[in-house]
Amino acid sequence: MNILEVKNLSKVYGKGETAVTALHDVSFSVKKGEFVCIIGPSGSGKSTLLHLLGGVDRPTRGKVLIDETDIYDLNETQLAIFRRRQIGLIYQFYNLIPILTVAENITLPMLLDEQKVDPAQFNKIVDILGLDQRLSHLPNQLSGGQQQRVSIGRALISNPAIILADEPTGNLDSKNSEEIMELLKMFNKTYNQTLIVITHDERIALQADRIISIEDGKVAKDEVIRP
Ligand code: ADP
Ligand code: ADP
Repeated sequence: MNILEVKNLSKVYGKGETAVTALHDVSFSVKKGEFVCIIGPSGSGKSTLLHLLGGVDRPTRGKVLIDETDIYDLNETQLAIFRRRQIGLIYQFYNLIPILTVAENITLPMLLDEQKVDPAQFNKIVDILGLDQRLSHLPNQLSGGQQQRVSIGRALISNPAIILADEPTGNLDSKNSEEIMELLKMFNKTYNQTLIVITHDERIALQADRIISIEDGKVAKDEVIRP
């Protein structure tokens, strides 16, 4: 089953002479449980693509279907709700809310929608992430690796259809990078959680089931490594 379908997606920033075509007619699909890495040179359109998959921006043309929902057919309110329930976003610089505790940051997407947090699901996630002793801490009382674990917790709490990560280890040393990738892969393999990761790091890309290379806003290569 395809959890994600990208159809003829284009994104043009700006207008007239200064317009930049960041993505040009990109199409692909991703199966439930797949681990896909997106690679490509700086400025090739990777972040633009991830933002469009995540419902953070709107495309100039084309469609994104997540679990059969055409996300850009939704209005802003519906899209915000869909995003919090079905899309887990992980960023290079964590994007945690500094005045909220670890527990509050993790449960925020649920609270914003007045959804009940399942305590068993919450405990399972914080246990796996090794955050059970850090729940009352603020983000700036944590190491970078721990902050990224919090953002993984926040991304997973609503049991979303897909996890999208933009250079999730880009700000971490090699030991923490490895641990973060092991955690993401564990959720991918054990819970069949679909995972899409942008990376510059070839060692990370080679761990994926499939590598999509983006060049000049187009899919230059799409290789399945592990069928
Ligand atoms: P990558 O993530 O591969 O580095 P991006 O998606 O960030 O690439 O950028 C693709 C192209 O779109 C680049 O030429 C970049 O300068 C341009 N771009 C990205 N975001 C914006 C924006 N908000 N406004 C205008 N141009 C942008
Ligand atoms: P609002 O629509 O009320 O402005 P947002 O959707 O911007 O709320 O989300 C508020 C916070 O929750 C942000 O810090 C954002 O990064 C985080 N967040 C929202 N949705 C997700 C998600 N699906 N995965 C991870 N973090 C999310």
